[in-house]
Amino acid sequence: MNDLHDVVIVGGGLVGASLAIALDRLGLDVGLVEATPAGELPAVFDQRNLSFAAATVNALTALGVMQRLEGAPGPIRRIHVSRAGDFGRVAMDAGDYGRDAFGQVVVARDFGRALEARLGDLSQLTRYRPAKFVGLGGCADGRREVLIADAAGERRLHARLVVGADGTRSAVRQALGIDASEHDYQQTLFVARVRAARAPDGTAWERFTDTGPTALLPRGDRHYGLVHGVARDDAEAVMALDDTAWLARLQAVLGWRAGRLLESGPRSAYPLIQVLAQRLVGERALLLGNAAQTIHPLGAQGFNLGLRDALTLAELIGDAVQDPGADDLLQAYVQRRGPDREQTLAFSDGLARLTGNPAALLRPLRSLGLVAAAQAAPLQSFLVGGAMGFRGQVPELCRSQAR
Ligand SMILES: Cc1cc2nc3c(=O)[nH]c(=O)nc-3n(C[C@H](O)[C@H](O)[C@H](O)COP(=O)(O)OP(=O)(O)OC[C@H]3O[C@@H](n4cnc5c(N)ncnc54)[C@H](O)[C@@H]3O)c2cc1C
Repeated sequence: MNDLHDVVIVGGGLVGASLAIALDRLGLDVGLVEATPAGELPAVFDQRNLSFAAATVNALTALGVMQRLEGAPGPIRRIHVSRAGDFGRVAMDAGDYGRDAFGQVVVARDFGRALEARLGDLSQLTRYRPAKFVGLGGCADGRREVLIADAAGERRLHARLVVGADGTRSAVRQALGIDASEHDYQQTLFVARVRAARAPDGTAWERFTDTGPTALLPRGDRHYGLVHGVARDDAEAVMALDDTAWLARLQAVLGWRAGRLLESGPRSAYPLIQVLAQRLVGERALLLGNAAQTIHPLGAQGFNLGLRDALTLAELIGDAVQDPGADDLLQAYVQRRGPDREQTLAFSDGLARLTGNPAALLRPLRSLGLVAAAQAAPLQSFLVGGAMGFRGQVPELCRSQAR
């Protein structure tokens, strides 16, 4: 196996795998290091429901991944947002924005299988798995040394650019000596597949209470993807509920918008923490996806944002036709990702704090916020544009299938 690569990507999760596909289109020699063995999907490809923004759907179609999904995704044609105890509500229809859908709901596991199938087509990709990133060496002859460990022991790879796509607790970030700031929202998010009397009709129902958000996302398989946020202190008790009590709890929060809730699949729980890298680049190295920023999933933006990281990098490398680890290219990356990163972080964090704050005094403000949002068309257009992934300088691939 050749240990010299143009780019070594550490982490074959949602963003790392997508980047490998985008770089292969450019004819680059890529090494992909993933801790999970061949034949298994990384644990992150679980039962969580991913809302792909329209820009993401465009890009994943251009990359040949959407076509590899085994089941049809669920289009989000309408979004209905309301808050318990408030008068305001926001109802948005994709048709009003000249779109067929705001985005598509895909189960992470199905997405993992589609990515895996697409990775299997790539002729120039070298996969190191199971292999763990253990450290970075120095730079010589325009290449950076990467240390990985596999069953045979430690080995050294060399790359003109090393990409850390190794998730929230990124070892690449640590090896680069980049600090990260953390905020714990003291919330836990439950995810499950739920069946209701009324089958999904393309509406995403989002309901906010003082303890957090609850949403029913329309999947493509006649089920809803449920997300239910609870205060961290209540999480253990909620996990212990039997199915009848669990469904009654959800019904009380959601009301009868989707009819009676009939059945729930197993629940998974995620503690919600924001982790932000203080810098995005080092010498011949760069962070993207969750390694760069792990955000509250309420706005459903994490992967959408990480994919735009990956596609921006691929675009800059493709345009430059030069050393992918050159310092000016890395600086151009930082500059180009700045506005999208900042606005998406502000959007997701703001939404999480606004909707999860139990202080009674804030109630009228929040009502006003929702009512105002319902009436202010320009504000809605801004929110919708951001949620669909079309804010600021968007990578070309995100536009390519634009409808
Ligand atoms: C409940 C929930 C719902 C979500 N819903 C949405 C949504 O609707 N829309 C959306 O856009 N985003 C959503 N997200 C966010 C999304 O899941 C993340 O943004 C995405 O997983 C980030 O991808 P990543 O590739 O950067 O990191 P990860 O997916 O975490 O992948 C990191 C990879 O690196 C590997 N790895 C780690 N360390 C090493 C090492 N030392 N050596 C080798 N390999 C290593 C891991 O095995 C893993 O495969 C949601 C998140 C949660 C928790």
